[in-house]
Amino acid sequence: MAGRQSIARRDQPLRNKDRARARGTGPVTGNGSAMTLRFWGVRGTLPAPGAATVRYGGNTLCVELRCGPHLLILDAGSGAHVLGRALAATGVPVDADILLTHTHLDHISGLPFFAPLYDPRARLRFWGGHLAPPDGIRKALLLSWQAPLQPNLHAEFRAHTAFRDFVPEDDLPLHPGLRVATTALRHPGNAIGYRIDWGGASVCYITDTEHPPDGLDRNLLRFVAGTDVMIYDATYTETEYPSRAGWGHSTWRAGADLADAAAVRCLVLFHHHPDHDDSAMDAIAAAVEERRPGSLVAKEGMQLEVGSPP
Ligand SMILES: [Zn+2]
Ligand SMILES: [Zn+2]
Repeated sequence: MAGRQSIARRDQPLRNKDRARARGTGPVTGNGSAMTLRFWGVRGTLPAPGAATVRYGGNTLCVELRCGPHLLILDAGSGAHVLGRALAATGVPVDADILLTHTHLDHISGLPFFAPLYDPRARLRFWGGHLAPPDGIRKALLLSWQAPLQPNLHAEFRAHTAFRDFVPEDDLPLHPGLRVATTALRHPGNAIGYRIDWGGASVCYITDTEHPPDGLDRNLLRFVAGTDVMIYDATYTETEYPSRAGWGHSTWRAGADLADAAAVRCLVLFHHHPDHDDSAMDAIAAAVEERRPGSLVAKEGMQLEVGSPP
């Protein structure tokens, strides 16, 4: 079902193994398709645990992306704690690139509690492109890892770490055959959008951004054109957005408009507002299904297979 034929058919959903009830059961293996996505945190701004959010999940942003043997981690909010625990449970040393959109806390708060950082066998490379010198990703993360914001947990880190700064529009040299393109998003303090191409399939990770008042962001339209999956900031409803214009977040409808204009195959709504409980998320899911059938709303534990095996 997820063969090459399904890529060509816009009306065919991606293989969606919705495992919302199977959290923490282990990281994905990525053997059955070109790329495998698994969502470990889908909530924006701050965690939203509790009975009212149990179906969509309360952890902040973290997505696992397997491209063949390569592990990429997209943002590291509180969901990274759960991913780290699952990776540690495999006993296999972790070698991963952690692509950060920016360093607002909902995107990095899980890092000091990410188990592989305490494993001397682990190799972790952190990438950031939203800060201008003399600031950089290492300086920003270190600030968040030490007193008075935390105990000095980073002194206990044992992994081999590397910190890589880049500027928007750079292609990141992660591995041969794996293309990682970057672009600037429209967000206070800047943020980075990523496009990852592997084995003929593509995923765009576009969160914490807002279109200009006069229409769709032309740069973003170019950047996401023709991608298989676009994970997209859908923080606000249309009703909520007007009083929050300029705050750097978007709506599900703007995501659907962008996906249509850019011929994106599958839209995945993400960065859910902490005040949107499960029934509010169900209403958004129904609305986007009517507006753009086959769109998905990210849930903790949801797994997507993208493309065919290389
Ligand atoms: Zn955010
Ligand atoms: Zn932000």
